Amino acid sequence: MRANRTMSYGRAEAFMTQLLFRNFKLLEPRVGELQDGFELLVEGDTIREVSERSIRSGAAEVIDCGGRTLMPGLIDCHVHVFLSEVNIRFLEAVPLTLATARAVALMRGMIDRGFTTVRDTGGADWGIKEAVEKGHVVGPRLFIAGQAIGPTGGHSDPRRRTDYSLGLRCHCCNAMAFTMNVSDGVSEVRKAAREQMRQGADHVKIMMSGGVASPYDPLDSLQFAPEEVAAAVEEARAFGRYVCAHAYTPEAITRAAQAGVRTIEHGNLIDEAAATLMAEKGMFLVANLVAYYAMKERAAEYGMTADMLAKNDLVIEGGLRSLEICKRAGVPVAYGSDLLGALQVDQSREFVIRSEVVSPLEIIRSATTIAAQVLRMEGRLGTLKAGAYADLLVVDGNPLKDLSLFQDQGRHLSAIMKGGKFHKNRLH
Ligand SMILES: [Zn+2]
Repeated sequence: MRANRTMSYGRAEAFMTQLLFRNFKLLEPRVGELQDGFELLVEGDTIREVSERSIRSGAAEVIDCGGRTLMPGLIDCHVHVFLSEVNIRFLEAVPLTLATARAVALMRGMIDRGFTTVRDTGGADWGIKEAVEKGHVVGPRLFIAGQAIGPTGGHSDPRRRTDYSLGLRCHCCNAMAFTMNVSDGVSEVRKAAREQMRQGADHVKIMMSGGVASPYDPLDSLQFAPEEVAAAVEEARAFGRYVCAHAYTPEAITRAAQAGVRTIEHGNLIDEAAATLMAEKGMFLVANLVAYYAMKERAAEYGMTADMLAKNDLVIEGGLRSLEICKRAGVPVAYGSDLLGALQVDQSREFVIRSEVVSPLEIIRSATTIAAQVLRMEGRLGTLKAGAYADLLVVDGNPLKDLSLFQDQGRHLSAIMKGGKFHKNRLH
């Protein structure tokens, strides 16, 4: 068995291109300061070697980084590539062809900003994931949830009040019906979770409290009941997946934590007790402060309604405080943005917003090493060590001193590589 593997490796190796990165400052997020004198060899889609000595490889093409910073590609743990409207109700009028075309543009923007991996928390399906993997469209690696699952009247129930159909058993084929799921009771939740995983979901997304972008559910409403959450968690675990839960309030977070949910999305209104419980359970918070700032500033012009914006005001204040509470409690916080439609250009602003209360190193870790833990891809993503995917950025400066280097739609990134292939390279 072992001999076999070595042989096939050897054979593949003969055809793999090698790239040797030189003359850079290494930003390995686990280390936390820039390191001089390293070289890094990429072979195929993988980092083969990182060494303090010069790496000898006759066949390799040499990439001179000109003294810039080399770091892992960024990971955003909360995006929606199919939610291309700021008022997501408008998705009702968007056919899937148009939704897909818009997703392609949104994903290109993400990788242009240096996000080589994103975790979609509702909407993206295996088709768009495969389109990226096969190279049909340009975009970051996708980890997907399929449809977001919530109860009748919850954050993922897109029906108007004039719609008396039960659930989403309509014959609609639009971006709204495609991305959201309504299920009630243990057996329906179980079935919906299984269905998403049958469709290739990497994680199961459920709704535990009200949300901003849904008009009818109060923010502090409790959504899935304990037995419904437990059913989703049981099914996700049985399939080797996990549950991520949309939740704002301590009550919703606590209910999710007690039922075995692994990540809390948003969590703005978290308190010390809920954070302590999360830490005890080994959970993660995926925060996304920028979404609330961007909505407050610009969502009205894209048709977000006053009742939604009123709910936005309830959570925006909690954002920075939630980061401080989680830090004290020892809950790791991953990078998220959760921006809808045209607001997605603000994706990298989360770095700057968080820097009010968190150090640049911690924020960079939230978008690299911690994000990789969320994705269960430790050692493969979010790091530059040997054996990781060759997802790299060459940055024109030191992000540990200046997080604004991630702003301006990638202007300060001289090179972006995903899986050993340059998405951008202006080093020569
Ligand atoms: Zn979201």
